Amino acid sequence: MSENTTSNKTVSNTISKRIMRLSPSTTLEINARARKLAANGARIISLAAGEPDFGPPQEVLDFIKQKMDDPANHKYTFAKGMLELRKTIAKKTTDETGVEFDDKQVIITNGAKQAIFEAFETIINYGDEVLLPAPYWTTYPELIQLAEGIPVVINGSIDNNFKITVDQLEAEVTDKTKALVLVTPNNPTGSIYTSEELAEICQFVIRHNLILISDEIYNRLDYTSMEAVAASPLKSCPEVKDNILIINGLSKSFAMTGWRIGWIIGPQNITNRIADLQSHVTGNVNNFAQYGAIKALEIDDSYFMNMKETLYSRRDIMFDKLSSINYHDKPAFLNIQKPAGAFYYFANIENLLEVPLGEGQHTSYTDSELVRRILDETGVALVPGSAFGYPGYIRFSFALDTSDLIEALDLLKKYIEQ
Ligand code: PMP
Ligand code: GLU
Repeated sequence: MSENTTSNKTVSNTISKRIMRLSPSTTLEINARARKLAANGARIISLAAGEPDFGPPQEVLDFIKQKMDDPANHKYTFAKGMLELRKTIAKKTTDETGVEFDDKQVIITNGAKQAIFEAFETIINYGDEVLLPAPYWTTYPELIQLAEGIPVVINGSIDNNFKITVDQLEAEVTDKTKALVLVTPNNPTGSIYTSEELAEICQFVIRHNLILISDEIYNRLDYTSMEAVAASPLKSCPEVKDNILIINGLSKSFAMTGWRIGWIIGPQNITNRIADLQSHVTGNVNNFAQYGAIKALEIDDSYFMNMKETLYSRRDIMFDKLSSINYHDKPAFLNIQKPAGAFYYFANIENLLEVPLGEGQHTSYTDSELVRRILDETGVALVPGSAFGYPGYIRFSFALDTSDLIEALDLLKKYIEQ
């Protein structure tokens, strides 16, 4: 096109409507802001990231170093993931749920995030509805909308630890409903659904012929049980096997967030098409990360048990510290409940949002404004509830070094009580 051709195209319509609607990930934005402040010399303690401070198991690191010397490993491998890794995951899922799986039902993705993206792209048509319990992890509504689906948000009740019930689901299901998202143990609330609750939800899914997107990325972090793995929908209700896509990965339980290993496992008619999608989008996930995953998945449960013990004690420390903070003679944080799993507290901050100005006058903040002030004035990074579709709350991660955690909560107490 010559320079002087007239066109009614503008920069704003250069960008697709789908991408125009997309908001960036708040959790990652806050991480980035905290890192930037730290790079400029500020003392920043992040209780924002869902990123464990533990290192990956040493055997994993030794194993991939050997693999680097083999020239074959520097080439493309299967787009849907290495056969050995897919077999390992199929077997592990079979052992943990009692339901038979094979490697054709597993796709290795670039983190659980890509697994979720590909699941929605593969099953959603324009205008399909997806039932999405809130508070939800910030990425869910964005990826549903990117696939041109409609998130139907259902608020979990505080009295039920933010968990949704089948009655609530029945009230929202329509002819257009295609899927239900369930994250247990949950981010941001830490709640865990019991086997009985899961069995009922699975029956609902089967009754309405939906797909259950079961995000089990925190499944090894259940503080209420000595079992290695938390209750899962499939184990509670094996009949849901043709209606479930399980999402998991190494980011949380293996403290390997940067390795970007996730997976999706489910009925082969769906995973075949996800494989086709992935063959165009990314091809295979980095070979060395996949080797690391093969080794990591061989590790015995003592690795998680140690991690769980450390997180368990941090959970108690955080509970005591948060409960001790007051604001103008009222508790600063309401409804603080020790989370059953994952590594987050999700606290009500309504008392902090009303700021007395004297002479009966008040001003008010939003949760995002408060979080920004706290970061700027104390160096403590947190995530506002509005990032999870639940304004008026703050999420605190306790997946960080214990002394940093204590220092951050002491700074917060000083800031709020002064
Ligand atoms: N699901 C949930 C509920 C999460 O909190 C996260 C955040 N890490 C993910 C999926 C994505 O994990 P990954 O790092 O494997 O992409
Ligand atoms: N899922 C984590 C969190 O909620 C990591 C950040 C992200 O990927 O959004 O903090």
